[in-house]
Parts: sequence; C-alpha cells; structure tokens
Amino acid sequence: MQVSGKCLCGAVHYSGQAEPQFQVKCYCTDCRKSSASGHAAMMGVAREAITIGGEVKEFLSKADSGTEVTRAFCPSCGTGIYSKNAAMPHMIFLRAATLDDPEAFSPQMVVYASRAPGWDAVNFAGPKFDEMPPRG
Ligand SMILES: [Zn+2]
Ligand SMILES: [Zn+2]
Repeated sequence: MQVSGKCLCGAVHYSGQAEPQFQVKCYCTDCRKSSASGHAAMMGVAREAITIGGEVKEFLSKADSGTEVTRAFCPSCGTGIYSKNAAMPHMIFLRAATLDDPEAFSPQMVVYASRAPGWDAVNFAGPKFDEMPPRG
C-alpha cells in the first residue's frame, strides 16, 4: 500500500510503497512522554521502503527491554515522526498519528497495557499485553 505522512508544520514528510508488518499501540512510559499522549500508535514497515524528506532530530534512549530505541521528531514543530529499534534494524516504526490517512493504520495489538493512564484507558478488542510480548 502507499504510505505517506508529514509532521504538523510539513517540514518533515515521508512516503513509500510498504506493507505494514507490525502495527501496535504502546502505552509504555517512554512512548507516552515522547508522543505527549496516553500512548503511541506505530506502524512498522520495512525501513528501505520509506523515503524521509526534510531534516529530523533523533533522540536515543534505552527501552525497558534493554534495546536502544531512536525516536525522530521534527525540530521545528516537535511532531514525532518515527522510531527505530536496534533489535529490529530492518524496520521503521512510523507514528500513525502523522499518516496522511490516519485510517490506514490498523492496530494488531496493544503493548504495555498495564501502564495505560486512567484517562487513556485501553479500549481494544484484539490482543493486549501487560508488557512487551515475548518475541518470536
Ligand atoms: Zn514539523
Ligand atoms: Zn512504547
């Protein structure tokens, strides 16, 4: 499918022909803070399928799992654009909130559901995990 999106000011944009491989809503503390919301919604696609236009700023931190997560945001408007996970080097996780068509995102699971704040309660019929599900 055609995937495209941009930040609030439009300085950072992305597009590509990609099949979503991993679509997730994450309620972990880092996602909550970096998204300035109760959770982050992310669409994982093959990294090489996506072309990023414009200048992003990246922030690297260690996730609970011990892996390094790099989050990229627009330096002008602050919109989070994507994240990358050192444990999944061939993937890029686009912030679903930045998609030109937000309905193109279809979450498959919720992770770190145990950390959802009361004002952003998990409302999802599919699989929910208290933390990160085991990989495989
Ligand atoms: Zn921007
Ligand atoms: Zn998270």
